[in-house]
Amino acid sequence: MLLFGATPGRAVAENSVLIDSRHAPGLQVGQPEYALGRLEAGFDRARGDDWGWQPMHVPNLGRPPAGAWVRFPVHNLQTNASSWYLVLKWPVLDRVTLRLYYPQQERWGEPMVAGDTLAVSQRPVVDHNLVFPLHLQPGEQAVVYLQLEASELMVLPLELVDETSFIEGKVLDTALFSLFFGGMIVIVLYNLSLLIFTRDLSYLLYVLYLLSAMFYVATMSGFGQLVLWPGAPPFSARFYTLSATLCFLTPLLFVVRFLQVRQYGGWVWHVTWVLGCYWITMLLAVLLIPQHAHWLFMEYVALPYCLISLAVTLTLWARGNVSARLFSIAWITLLGFTVIHLLALWGYMPLNRLTLHGQLIGMFIEFVLLSMALAERINLERNQRIAAQQLALEASRNLADEREQHLQAKQQALLIQQRANEELESRVVARTRALEEVRHGLELANAELLRLSSTDSLTHLANRRQFDQLLEDEVRRGRRNGAPLTVLLGDIDHFKRINDTYGHPFGDECLRRVAAILQQHCQRAGDLAARYGGEEFVITLPATGGPQAVLLAERMRREVERLELDCDGERVSLTISFGVATLDPQAAATPLELLGAADRALYEAKRSGRNCVVEAGKSSPDGAIIVA
Ligand code: GH3
Ligand code: MG
Ligand code: MG
Repeated sequence: MLLFGATPGRAVAENSVLIDSRHAPGLQVGQPEYALGRLEAGFDRARGDDWGWQPMHVPNLGRPPAGAWVRFPVHNLQTNASSWYLVLKWPVLDRVTLRLYYPQQERWGEPMVAGDTLAVSQRPVVDHNLVFPLHLQPGEQAVVYLQLEASELMVLPLELVDETSFIEGKVLDTALFSLFFGGMIVIVLYNLSLLIFTRDLSYLLYVLYLLSAMFYVATMSGFGQLVLWPGAPPFSARFYTLSATLCFLTPLLFVVRFLQVRQYGGWVWHVTWVLGCYWITMLLAVLLIPQHAHWLFMEYVALPYCLISLAVTLTLWARGNVSARLFSIAWITLLGFTVIHLLALWGYMPLNRLTLHGQLIGMFIEFVLLSMALAERINLERNQRIAAQQLALEASRNLADEREQHLQAKQQALLIQQRANEELESRVVARTRALEEVRHGLELANAELLRLSSTDSLTHLANRRQFDQLLEDEVRRGRRNGAPLTVLLGDIDHFKRINDTYGHPFGDECLRRVAAILQQHCQRAGDLAARYGGEEFVITLPATGGPQAVLLAERMRREVERLELDCDGERVSLTISFGVATLDPQAAATPLELLGAADRALYEAKRSGRNCVVEAGKSSPDGAIIVA
């Protein structure tokens, strides 16, 4: 054992700065050394000095493809036999074999194995970390040899603790991770419920991202293997790679969908598209490409990827995407914690619980912020929906207003039309009335004309024209009814002499007075007195027999006889003679024949001395028989 042979004093005198042994009282730990490769060589060969052992300055051996060896001396300074635990807090290592070499007795202890390619039950201590118990007698010295195989980064956060501290640490880790997973499950369930209610693909992608992150943390913390896949499935060695790849891919898909990156186009969209293709290829490669080569790809792209993603979200934020603000803050937070984690892994910062698991805090903060972004978007969409609803409401109100205005205009048009109709109607009524008045006037005028044309202007009796017309009608009616019709023909006696003696105007006055007497005696319906011409008058008496007519004629004659006229103080008297003829309804006599008979009777009256009434067919006052 060259290491201890060369500098045994120094190796056991100082506590290693790389191995945290603060909680291992009484145990002195020496400087750890490492050698790369030679996995197949075995523990006996490892003791040889020809391997070129190098002092370890950082708890990170990079990615040695053929594995590595690490060794460090321990010395039990206590006076009793004691137990300690070597805790390797990087449980993703594929296979770690530990053996203690006791230089004083020149013998090897029993090998102990642990790693993520082995079942948990094969480990010396069941824990989420890789834990190896170390038993040392009082004052005993030993060298811890670790044979390491890993396809991932070979990080060696080593801790040496006594039993009490080991249990304390275990409880603390369990509490810390339970808190993390509990919180994550709450966020997952919350987003699943949002997915169910909104059917928005963003929530599904976010849930996938959350699950990927949980998968990653479960893998790198060792709790996944301890609780979920203790039997170490054939793929378990690739779980770390797989979960890490998913942790790059799923947030990218989520961002593309949620921030609607495609809408923004330009370099933002192209870069995102290229990165998406890259991570999908990587995902497929996890199963196909040997682990080391694959990790190589991922490691060099991871940091630029994170920075580009941040640039994308910052650009979207600058372009007015509200959700991108919380995304950027979340990204920066995670990036910050990841950088601290990486700095600790590469030895630039102390590797402790905070720097080792600090990423968890970053992740948790990130997920809370992203959930807030999602909730904020729900709020935003709700506001937009409310605004849209209000817009629709306003539009429908406007439509209703327009309809109302339209209706009002229609009603107004109807009113105007109604008024116009009424006006037209009243005009028509007025015109009709005016026409009616004109027609009535015309009728009156016609009636007056008729009256004038059928009336004698001097005596106001019916004229000869009216009489002739009426006589024809009365003859027909009398014949139809079988009633007698009598005609009286009167002539003023010696009228020429009156004219000659008293003047023509007095003659006219005499004619008017005689006419008035005749008119007075024709009061029955159908009786008509007319001026026959000159000083001759004719009277038709329907339904009147000869004797009645003679009596009437006699009354009229006497009335004329009693008439006393005054012409310039001189009393003048008149007489009149009547010829009476009655039409027998049985006989077929014409009006002309009837008038002829009346005229002959008048002639007979004149001949008999005037101032008398002679009826046709009867003997005249002087005894002559008038032939009808
Ligand atoms: P007689 O007794 O035979 O009837 O004799 P007379 O004079 O009455 O009969 P005659 O036929 O000879 O005369 C009729 C006169 O009546 C002639 C005419 O001057 C007059 N006369 C006719 N028409 C009018 C009239 O309108 N006004 C006036 N003033 N005289 C009239
Ligand atoms: Mg005469
Ligand atoms: Mg006469």
